[in-house]
Order: sequence, then structure tokens, then C-alpha cells
Amino acid sequence: MAHSIVTEPVRAGIQRFVLTLALSQKRVNGRHMSEDRMLQFYESRGTYPECQAGWYRLILDLDAKIGSIEPGYKVDQIKEKFGGLRFYYDEISVNDDNRERVDKLVDAAEQISYTTCEVCGVSDSTVTTSGPCWVKTLCSEHRK
Ligand SMILES: [Zn+2]
Repeated sequence: MAHSIVTEPVRAGIQRFVLTLALSQKRVNGRHMSEDRMLQFYESRGTYPECQAGWYRLILDLDAKIGSIEPGYKVDQIKEKFGGLRFYYDEISVNDDNRERVDKLVDAAEQISYTTCEVCGVSDSTVTTSGPCWVKTLCSEHRK
């Protein structure tokens, strides 16, 4: 991963700011998105998702699954790219013997993201990934 001139304290500060913004949108897919859970994620995994809140549930589910295999694992970066979730965990934090299982879980979650609205988390027939100029996975409501 390419590192910019942004120092770690600055990066952490930016992430906290993003976290505050994201937590202002607490209702995702009709369910209350607990501030505690996202703070907990940030504190245990060392980073915060850079995607929108509609994928938080997917990320937390994936986190629980990876955590059951590798409790102390860390995350390098979580973001959206070309309409899909990208979940980069810190390979050093995962035992060699567990990598294949973890990779499969990550692949599965990334696939699900292509049918899950990044804004609201809905996963129905209106969700599309459009392109070529603006590739995002959104429901019909949030594509307006
Ligand atoms: Zn939506």
C-alpha cells in the first residue's frame, strides 16, 4: 500500500472525524447502528471503514467471522472501489494457516457488497452497479 506524507496522528484524526460524520447517520437498513459497535471496531481493528454506512452491517458480520478465527487480527484499509467493497486486512496479524479461510470470507463479503446499497444497506432487485463514469452500488432510491 502506498503511503502518503500524511502522518499517522493526522490519519487517526481524519478517521475520527469521518467516524463522527458517519455516526450521525445512525439508522441503516431500518436497524439502529450502534455507535459503540463502530467505535469498538475502530479500536480493536485499528482503522475505520472509508465506505458509506450501508455496508457497515456487512463489515461487522465479516469482522465477527474473521474474529472467531483470528481474534486479534488488524485491518489496513476498508474502502469502496469500482462499486465494490475492498477489505484489506493486515496479513501479518493473521496466522499463515488461517489466511485461506479468512480470504474466502473476505471474498464472499466483497461479492455481497455488489448487491447491497452502499448508502442504506438494502439488498433488493433495485440495487445496481452502474458505470462507466460513476460506478457505485446503490438502490433506486439512492441513485436519484
Ligand atoms: Zn439505498
